[in-house]
Amino acid sequence: MRISVVTVFPEYFDSPLGVSLVGRAIADGRLEVDFHDPRDHANGVHRQVDDAPFGGGPGMVMMPEPLARILEPLEGTHRVLFTPAGAPLTQSTLDRFAEMDHLTLVCGRYEGVDERIADHFIDEEVSLGDYVLLGGEVAASVVIEGVARLLPGVVGNPSSIESESFRGNLLEEPQYTRPADFRGWKAPEVLLSGDHGRIAEWRERQRRERTAQRRPDLLDDDERPVGSGCV
Ligand code: SAM
Repeated sequence: MRISVVTVFPEYFDSPLGVSLVGRAIADGRLEVDFHDPRDHANGVHRQVDDAPFGGGPGMVMMPEPLARILEPLEGTHRVLFTPAGAPLTQSTLDRFAEMDHLTLVCGRYEGVDERIADHFIDEEVSLGDYVLLGGEVAASVVIEGVARLLPGVVGNPSSIESESFRGNLLEEPQYTRPADFRGWKAPEVLLSGDHGRIAEWRERQRRERTAQRRPDLLDDDERPVGSGCV
């Protein structure tokens, strides 16, 4: 899979792409990431990529031309713009992205991107959440990591992905490891029983209870506890 990142700060990605399983996925050739800096496509010696907003107001807006020069040749890839006004990023977004051959991630900066870019060169607008960051690089890093771990061979044991939070719209059950008794706090006896049927039943019940308590919005109407506040 290939991911093209449009950013005025390509160096931002040096560390996240160099470590852990993402670093290995790139080294193994399972994932290829390339960068396009709007400054390299700007006019003039100052390589200006932003300008004052029409109508007045604070800050600067990313100019359309440098971005269009990058994004037009990338037509045919799935071009994603990060913006707080986009659809919230979820595991199902990442599942969908992981099926694609070539994804393009556009990182805004300053007050954001001239709207004509979103109108004519973008296939999907995505938000990381209901808060405002300085730029889209954090969001791109999240998507790259979230997608990379879904690519075949990146995570050693594929079953760990199948049973994770948000699969089947449930949170994962709590996890324990040695020692069985930590400062007097005991791990659940059932997990030490060796009885795989009981363990599976306990895990399934925990997943449902946790989700009902913490994220009732993930459950179907008839599974939500009464009074959870979800409509
Ligand atoms: N003026 C914009 C607004 O009020 O919606 C915020 C611009 S923000 C300071 C600059 C850039 O950071 C955005 O263009 C976007 O690419 C990125 N960004 C900030 N918060 C984000 C979020 N929650 N999700 C996705 N991208 C975000």
